[in-house]
Amino acid sequence: MDKNFDTSLLHTPYGKPDAYNALSMPVYNSAAYEFDSAEQMESAFTGKTSEFAYSRITNPTVQYFEDRVKTITKAFSVTALNSGMAAITNTIIALAKTGDNIVTSRHLFGNTYSFLASTLAAFGVEARFCDLTNPKEVSAIIDEKTCAVFLEIITNPQLEVADLKALSSICKSRNIPLVADTTIVPFCAFRANEFGVDIEVVSSTKYISGGATSLGGLILDYATFDWTKSVKLSGLAKDFGTKAFTVKLRKEIHRNMGAYMTPQVAYMQTLGLETMSLRFEKATKTCIELAEKVEKLSGVESVNYTGLKSNPYYELSCAQFGAYPGAMFTFDLASREACFLFMNKLKLVKRATNLFDNKTLAIHPASTIYGTFTAEQRELMNVSDKTIRISVGLEDVEDLYQDFGQALL
Ligand SMILES: *Cc1c(COP(=O)(O)O)cnc(C)c1O
Repeated sequence: MDKNFDTSLLHTPYGKPDAYNALSMPVYNSAAYEFDSAEQMESAFTGKTSEFAYSRITNPTVQYFEDRVKTITKAFSVTALNSGMAAITNTIIALAKTGDNIVTSRHLFGNTYSFLASTLAAFGVEARFCDLTNPKEVSAIIDEKTCAVFLEIITNPQLEVADLKALSSICKSRNIPLVADTTIVPFCAFRANEFGVDIEVVSSTKYISGGATSLGGLILDYATFDWTKSVKLSGLAKDFGTKAFTVKLRKEIHRNMGAYMTPQVAYMQTLGLETMSLRFEKATKTCIELAEKVEKLSGVESVNYTGLKSNPYYELSCAQFGAYPGAMFTFDLASREACFLFMNKLKLVKRATNLFDNKTLAIHPASTIYGTFTAEQRELMNVSDKTIRISVGLEDVEDLYQDFGQALL
């Protein structure tokens, strides 16, 4: 019987029975694993059997975390890495080669932008920026060298939403995989593959870690893309078909890059997963209420949140993400000085980067995350000097509202 989300998450069986019937997956702090014979060793190392050999490649505690995510998302494969950036870089390196381009938007997480625009440029891979909310522009910019379309489902901090079904139909007609960063609305609330996403990347540092305990990243491959159409993976696709990306990633890229999640982190994040939907729902409900209240505070010029009916993306956001579009919103004050004053007067809300901690966090993106970009680059990325970003936590909404009110006085 197919169980519901939280039940199947909690009751995902172990790969092997635990020797002591531990109800909580033990932390296997071991770099390597012993074999009974040279023959057994040979078949593990040549891929004939899937024994544990070395924890850079796989580890029982990390694999259990991956298995839980696999159970609830029904992804073909899940790979857990030691940060969201590691998930993004491993994915792109598995897909791209010199001469290729990646079609994306300038509205990206700062390090993702820098990786695509600077780091990859040194290897001859071009980042092609366009307006992903404009299908005609996307169609026009794609060419035979495009190896992926990459987007964030709700961009941070602009909160822009692209129509995934429209993008997916362009990608399908041009034989290009659609890769989405779903950190802002994770898989407890949003089924990326139902909207045509082939590969999903998530920073599990955020909602999943369960209170910002640790860094982590996930790559989910739904095995929906026909890799015989990909120049780089068509060789593998002859043998592995729609599984070619996972084979490339797990047998080569992830082993060579050496960014696998550690067992301690997998333990914490497995616990985090267990309460993810509860926390996500509560934080998002509070976010909707708070955003509505903040809209009416004097000194606030505008509030940007796709969960507000006044937002231009409201309908698309409902269609894609339902009633809960994540617990991050931004608002604009009169000036950069007004933003700094507000930040400095906060008493309860923490001045910190990060998203979806259990505590509410505030940041002025232009002077921090985007502080080393030029003013022109910030303008191209729509990162305004007047914007404050809020990540809503699990506090009572009245206390948050009161703190905002006193900080705006
Ligand atoms: C935080 C974040 C990342 C990077 O994740 P890390 O775990 O910090 O490496 C990538 N994308 C989005 C949307 C993020 O919010």
